[in-house]
Amino acid sequence: MKGHIIYGMLCGVVAVQSLAGDTNIFTCRVGDLEVHLLVEYTGQGKSSVLLGASEADLRRYLPGGTYQAQTHTLLIRSPERVLLVDTGFGGRLFEHLKTLGLEPAQVDAVLLTHMHPDHIGGLQREGKALFPRASLYLSRQEKAYWTETAAHHGAVAALAPYGARVRTFSPKSIEAAEELLPGVRAVAAFGHTPGHTLYQVESQGQKLLIWGDLMHVQDIQFPLPAVSVSYDTDPQAAGAVRKQVLAYAAENRIPVAGMHLRYPAVGRVSPDGAGYRFSPLEEAATQGR
Ligand SMILES: [Zn+2]
Repeated sequence: MKGHIIYGMLCGVVAVQSLAGDTNIFTCRVGDLEVHLLVEYTGQGKSSVLLGASEADLRRYLPGGTYQAQTHTLLIRSPERVLLVDTGFGGRLFEHLKTLGLEPAQVDAVLLTHMHPDHIGGLQREGKALFPRASLYLSRQEKAYWTETAAHHGAVAALAPYGARVRTFSPKSIEAAEELLPGVRAVAAFGHTPGHTLYQVESQGQKLLIWGDLMHVQDIQFPLPAVSVSYDTDPQAAGAVRKQVLAYAAENRIPVAGMHLRYPAVGRVSPDGAGYRFSPLEEAATQGR
């Protein structure tokens, strides 16, 4: 890709950063996969969304009472296929695809982590699928919740134009996760929503765990993983699975990417006291690993 240099390697994942200092697309390599993190939205969040944080915790980790909130999507290009993980609100995603020289019709599959509006907003417009050839993957539990239990009309409308191209599956725990597509494992991380799913991609022995909404406020949820947010369907389950996945990623030195981590939103997790620390890929790469 013109205008990019490769300048670092971490856990086998190579960071490719725009020379122009573009902070809306971050590219890294995982084996022969090219992974692009696409920034969809940047704004501000308030600490009032947090559950389980004491006044002292808030003063320590979020002294201003606010945090920079971002939403991303991820695009994965391999020699065989183009995969998209979530679609954001369906705004900037389409500009980013253009920047990468891709048409929506080139996307072979959209993998959904869950069905909140900031993840499924780019699936359809006026009843038409915006990814005309893509199969749409989501967990059976997630689809059942949003189309039956909670019957949210936005979720129903998002799936409708994909018809028989909607594929559901039952993800397993991170230790038992099975391949959904070649080199892609689906991992159950229920709690944020009833069918919230992570995707671990692997190529040439290198891995990246795309953890969706496992975490929303990194300044406090890395050091205190039990802290949840008020929009977790089951805050307690979300906290439990967050701890489990953080331990797994740290122990196995698997880099992670999150839809609400701050740009570049890809990095490494390591233990730090009773909690964890996050080293963004870019920073870790320039600090000489
Ligand atoms: Zn969400």
